[in-house]
Amino acid sequence: MSSLDQDQRLHPGCRNKTTVSSDSSDAHELAKQPLQGLKLASHAVLEEAQHRGRLKCSKCGGSRMFFCYTCCALVGVSLQEIPSLKLPVKIDIIKHPNETDGKSTAIHAKILAPGDVTIYTYPCIPEYEKDKVVLVFPGPGAVSVQHMMQRLHDRSSSRSHDSSDEPCVKRRKSEEVQGPTENLESGSPDEAKSSESRVYPLQKVVFIDSTWNQTNKISTDERLQDLLQVELQMRKTCFWRRQKGKPDTYLATIEAIYYFLKDFHENCLAQEYSGEYDNLLFFYSYLHTVINKAKTSAGKC
Ligand SMILES: [Zn+2]
Repeated sequence: MSSLDQDQRLHPGCRNKTTVSSDSSDAHELAKQPLQGLKLASHAVLEEAQHRGRLKCSKCGGSRMFFCYTCCALVGVSLQEIPSLKLPVKIDIIKHPNETDGKSTAIHAKILAPGDVTIYTYPCIPEYEKDKVVLVFPGPGAVSVQHMMQRLHDRSSSRSHDSSDEPCVKRRKSEEVQGPTENLESGSPDEAKSSESRVYPLQKVVFIDSTWNQTNKISTDERLQDLLQVELQMRKTCFWRRQKGKPDTYLATIEAIYYFLKDFHENCLAQEYSGEYDNLLFFYSYLHTVINKAKTSAGKC
């Protein structure tokens, strides 16, 4: 994996490949299996839970498997049995109220990284500070993750020129990002400090969780209008509910978060990626496998 990552760094054009191979025929095979090669916790617990079947959620009584998307609680599996992730940056997910909870993958992020992920239901969203928060959403003004930090710095420095008090405030704010970066096994305190300064002034990354049409409505909300928009590299989705008429670069929310963090780790923290956030796809990859098996046995593939 690590040699591939180096290749990708040398050839940015290859970054859209999530698969591991320099051989084109192998690459083609693996492109069909984009979730292969992830460093995941054992799926045995999910296999067992699936074998037992759906259970009633103890909070709402709904019939659920693995977790209740209404209550954001595990069902039939315990917290100790599933992976728990610490993310390098806080994540907000804005969910459209009409989005069917059962179809949303936003809940995966909240369950797997509860300390770093907050889900809001539109139109109830926080007020964001435009030079500390970015919105992951494609568009004409969107920048890549690689250029995100520079653009954010540009914004905050142009703002600080407007007010002589700003630098003081900023210094205090920068201390807040110390928490997450401490958990990155970044080695020496010097390294930790440098990754902290790379992350500053970014405080939060906002994702929108809804169907494509609803997403456009949310992204044009005036409270999100001034945020720097960040666009992910082209990534082929393996979302089993691929939306009709949408290109296959349209990502499920959990995929978008995963790819963002991977790019963030390599480009903003400048660290080699070695599977740190792969377990965000713990449920997603399992469900993907189950659904693909079902499709294959039904002769649809
Ligand atoms: Zn429930």
